[in-house]
Amino acid sequence: MRRILVAEDNDSNFILMGYLLKKHYEVIRAINGIDAVEKVEQGGIDMVLMDLKMPEMDGLQATRIIKEKYPDMPIIALTANAFSSDREQAFEAGCDEFLSKPVNSELCLETIAKLLK
Ligand SMILES: [Mg+2]
Repeated sequence: MRRILVAEDNDSNFILMGYLLKKHYEVIRAINGIDAVEKVEQGGIDMVLMDLKMPEMDGLQATRIIKEKYPDMPIIALTANAFSSDREQAFEAGCDEFLSKPVNSELCLETIAKLLK
């Protein structure tokens, strides 16, 4: 089973994402950007779902660090503030895809499957 790191500081959002993913993927959580970088460095992660707004280190910064070291690691940005500037910033930081919250379950699963191919 492929392993997805869900970087999400909000417990409810993480639980919802867990329900969506756990049937098809092994789900691991990071609670902020620093934790996300550390968990990717520990290895075995196939993809990251990255909340952009997190304490300590936000998702943009974590994405830059991860992509510098692991350019092939697929990263999907997630954010509640779906302004076009957020989208631009996410792609500039190196995110491969961008989904706005609340997440459309079907679209989320499709996007993950596409990037894991
Ligand atoms: Mg957040």
